[in-house]
Amino acid sequence: MKIAVLKEATEGERRVAATPETVKKLVALGATLNVEAGAGASASIPDQDYEAAGAAVGPREAMLAGADAVLAVQGPEPEALAGLAPGALVVGALDPFRQRARIDAYAAAGLEALAMEFVPRITRAQSMDILSSQSNLAGYKAVLDAAAEYGRALPMMMTAAGTIPAARVFIMGVGVAGLQAIATARRLGAIVSATDVRAATKEQIESLGAKAIFVEKVAGIEGEGSGGYATEMSDEYKAAQAELVSSHIARQDIVITTALIPGRPAPRLISDAQLATMRPGSVIVDLAVEQGGNVEGAMPGAIVERHGVRIVGHRNVPSRLAADASALYARNLYNFLSAFWDKEANRVILPDDDEIVQGVRLTRGGQVVSERLKG
Ligand code: NAD
Repeated sequence: MKIAVLKEATEGERRVAATPETVKKLVALGATLNVEAGAGASASIPDQDYEAAGAAVGPREAMLAGADAVLAVQGPEPEALAGLAPGALVVGALDPFRQRARIDAYAAAGLEALAMEFVPRITRAQSMDILSSQSNLAGYKAVLDAAAEYGRALPMMMTAAGTIPAARVFIMGVGVAGLQAIATARRLGAIVSATDVRAATKEQIESLGAKAIFVEKVAGIEGEGSGGYATEMSDEYKAAQAELVSSHIARQDIVITTALIPGRPAPRLISDAQLATMRPGSVIVDLAVEQGGNVEGAMPGAIVERHGVRIVGHRNVPSRLAADASALYARNLYNFLSAFWDKEANRVILPDDDEIVQGVRLTRGGQVVSERLKG
């Protein structure tokens, strides 16, 4: 099986879908690896390291010729895959809901598109879960980004010149990114509180040494829904949450928002009026900015100031830690490919009745086959 790894074409994307480590492992399985020249440069991986791991390195067209699969971070433009034969696999974070036209074009070209963000949240698939691996790094980086914009220190400091109080950090949305943000802010010495709609997160927040701030009057999501994701809340819950946030947020120095609902715009958690109650110099990092934003006024790709509060809206935060994000992403892809590697056929074979395959497969035989996309 010939596997091509492309240099990412999307602006600002610094990650790469395979590393020398995963190239070596794929070669050991029996695959032939072709890596586009410069593919790893922005993640600090020189071409020579891919060659040393057993890959051929060269220009895109030559690397794509005869490939049975393409590994990518973001979905490549369909025109860039023109050299692929029908039936070839395109594996990546294909962003199916927002890139529907692109997915249709893959189908029209007869390609089999596999969206890694649709890996189901089951134990067997944990090592393939790109959302977890990337969110974890994003949660960490969000706190560092906030600290960099904050004109004060995070830990309490007792000095001969007097005491600096510890910063108060509030994390909204305690999934994978939020948990890592709590841990990171705690390590930096901040006083941390956090909130979520899923009742199960309360214990997780407290076990990390943070204070859980929860809507008490209206029931949230008890236990966890399918895959542990949140769903849209009732208007009554939203009103109670807004009241709670209003009373808490005015005393916070840094707020990190991470709340997402799969397949829907991000819930609005902070209004402009609430923002105005924060003291000047406070910082908000909106990790959901590309999904519509949790914070009113947040701008994708920009740091804006409103009422003296800085709202940080970096796009593609995992890409800001390109080396580590690539290492984890590449391992997620390797774990997926190796789980379905057929030794005799010396290639990946994806069984129709497998839950993981059913989750990730978007297109096949010229059709869009994903239930989530059809629905
Ligand atoms: P996510 O990125 O979809 O959302 C981030 C968080 O925002 C979630 O905790 C969600 O409950 C919260 N949220 C949504 N709407 C909100 C609102 N209005 N107000 C406040 N918070 C809101 O979530 P995620 O990081 O993908 O994780 C979701 C859960 O799935 C976690 O419990 C995680 O541990 C679990 N998970 C399980 C597996 C597995 O079993 N294989 C893998 C990964 C994650």
